[in-house]
Amino acid sequence: MRIFFYGACREVTGSNILVEVAGKKILLDCGIFQGSRMAEERNYSPFVFDAKSIDVVVVCHAHLDHTGRLPKLVKDGFRGKIYATAPTAQLTELVLDDSEKLMREESQRDNHPPLYGPAEIETTMELFTTIPYDEGVEISPGIKITLKNAGHILGSSVLILETEGKTLVYTSDLGNAPSELLSPPERIEKADFVISETTYGGRVHEDITKRHAKLNSIINSTISENGVLMIPTFAIERTQELLHDIEHFCTIANCTIPTFYLDSPLAEKVTRVFQKYPEYLNPRLNLAHDNDIFGLSRLRITSTVDASKQIDDAPNPKIIIAGSGMMNGGRILYHLQNYIGDANSTLLIVSYQSGGTLGRRLIDGEKVIKIFGKKYNVAANVVAIGSYSAHADAPQLLRWLSTISGVKKIFLVHGEGDQALAFGESVKEKMGVDVIIPQQGEMYEL
Ligand SMILES: [Zn+2]
Repeated sequence: MRIFFYGACREVTGSNILVEVAGKKILLDCGIFQGSRMAEERNYSPFVFDAKSIDVVVVCHAHLDHTGRLPKLVKDGFRGKIYATAPTAQLTELVLDDSEKLMREESQRDNHPPLYGPAEIETTMELFTTIPYDEGVEISPGIKITLKNAGHILGSSVLILETEGKTLVYTSDLGNAPSELLSPPERIEKADFVISETTYGGRVHEDITKRHAKLNSIINSTISENGVLMIPTFAIERTQELLHDIEHFCTIANCTIPTFYLDSPLAEKVTRVFQKYPEYLNPRLNLAHDNDIFGLSRLRITSTVDASKQIDDAPNPKIIIAGSGMMNGGRILYHLQNYIGDANSTLLIVSYQSGGTLGRRLIDGEKVIKIFGKKYNVAANVVAIGSYSAHADAPQLLRWLSTISGVKKIFLVHGEGDQALAFGESVKEKMGVDVIIPQQGEMYEL
């Protein structure tokens, strides 16, 4: 078995691993690079392998940094099967469509051809073969794959690949338990080799049990001060967790929820996918009793840009959930223009903010920000709840890995260099196994 690391090496985006075994080439995830200035250049540069030679792709979850280059793979001639769970396939189509629109606007502005178009997305979606959790599938004679719940986002999976008497486990992204909406990541009994994410390999999350009280008090003060609560979020998982928390925990705490807007067409579509697959949700949710776990009956959903602009005319207090999660674009910017200067309003940050984004600058306490080239004074309260992360923290990752027996080697990917290095030390100490933190393009023969 040979493993080639082609993405998310000492960084958190661009997940892409090639496994060559039993005469077959299997690609694990095919994501885009995000964040850095070099990202676009790297996304546009050709794959180092021949796309036509890939037999099978396994997609472990729908996030763009794990799926965003699938249409490019198809554009370059890949025509094999793409295995994933049913929710992963549906969410992948939504995120690819959304990113294609953004890329098209960018490419018109910068005058270069887009990475791919709607036709490639359509062909990509035709190649999906959906499989449920826990049912092993022989993808080629002597090569079996099984997907297990990863608890990261709806339909997310840990991959078990069994071949030639060896077992390889790939975490893709591992969830942060307990989650209200998803079951915790499933334990894996045994493996010879593991490829693990390390997004928070050097960190411990804020205590998850305090977040409901914190959220309630923020909503209550928005009401008492007659302000606006702005919550920038990611469309998948974070939005649904928030909707559920606001609906469920504010209801049981008897707090009044003011006029409440979901100003993100993508997040609305994603929420519908969540409703379509109750079997992928946490069985504790008791859906038989409560079929409106996201409070959609109370939500005002603004599909058009005009409807979004009318939110400003509605009287305070109000809650607005809008994208993008890091405030580097999207409808949230229009609401920030209106309310960031209002001392009675609050900006609640529930997502990771990477360096260089407006979100990071706000969280770091900048008092004057620029939106669309215009300066604004920051008078609104800027608060963060850190426990909404969809990724396991260092202790959770280590606990999950430690319960796998027979591990000979662990490869660490999907973490900034310092996170992967810190985690590598803990793994060596606790598990006494060989740890490798691959560099981009490296190959290992097992
Ligand atoms: Zn992810």
